[in-house]
Amino acid sequence: MDLGIKGKRALVCASSKGLGLGCAEKLAEAGVDLVMNARSEGPLREAADRIASETGVSVTPVAADITSEEGRADVLAAAGDLDILVNNAGGPPPGMWSDWDRSDFIAALDANMLTPIALMKALLPGMMEKGWGRVVNITSQSVKSPIAVLGLSNSARAGLTGYVAGTSRQVAPHGVTINNLLPGIHATDRADALDKGVSQQQNISLEDARTQRETTIPARRYGTRQEFGAACAFLCSQHAGFIVGQNLLLDGGAVNATL
Ligand code: NAP
Repeated sequence: MDLGIKGKRALVCASSKGLGLGCAEKLAEAGVDLVMNARSEGPLREAADRIASETGVSVTPVAADITSEEGRADVLAAAGDLDILVNNAGGPPPGMWSDWDRSDFIAALDANMLTPIALMKALLPGMMEKGWGRVVNITSQSVKSPIAVLGLSNSARAGLTGYVAGTSRQVAPHGVTINNLLPGIHATDRADALDKGVSQQQNISLEDARTQRETTIPARRYGTRQEFGAACAFLCSQHAGFIVGQNLLLDGGAVNATL
């Protein structure tokens, strides 16, 4: 399917690996020029060069911490005029509800709620002026169904979801859509890190920790970054202009709910 966005320009935050990388790859396949971001320069440059040579789109890598004000300023300065924004950053650490104090919550809110909000605030006016724009926020299945060990994520992402619910309806009259993608378990470094925690805690092998988690997913496997990226590219496409303020679960059926 032609997504109708060839020649558009996208910022994909936190995109040298994992789900962000999947989104960058699928947007590039649709002919979208990219600004890619991550903190470590090496893997970012490697991913940017590979995508540029495989697809022929222009890719500008910007190494910066997207959760810091300076990092965002650097990324926005290098990005210039944008049509598409994919918000993403690393997820908060796991723990118990009784572990976290104010500073832990502030860090999680900064990374997973206030950073995407700051980027939307910076970029929505330009999109509205042009009468076309797409924003996709990578959140989590924890928005629909809380994950006990990820209380910081449950909280910060719920806050972002509330902001998007209200804001998406205000920018939609200008041809700009904002939607959230809610990943369940996907095979990325983040999933590996969480599985390693379980394997240590329960004194089982990493493979057993994975198999144990796979059995909780009706699809009986982890999702891939390619599947996730394809859903993101569709939400950024011309065909998705009537999809506003939605929360799309990509979880292999893990959340047991009718709606
Ligand atoms: P990942 O495989 O660990 O990749 C994270 C990517 O983000 C890397 O490119 C990393 O590069 C970059 N990054 C991290 N912190 C950054 C920062 N502060 N500034 C700029 N770039 C940053 O993670 P993932 O699995 O793709 O997860 C992406 C998001 O989805 C996370 O918020 C995660 O919590 C959420 N999520 C993931 C899953 C899953 O199963 N994978 C499920 C639910 C939710 P650098 O380290 O070089 O910065």
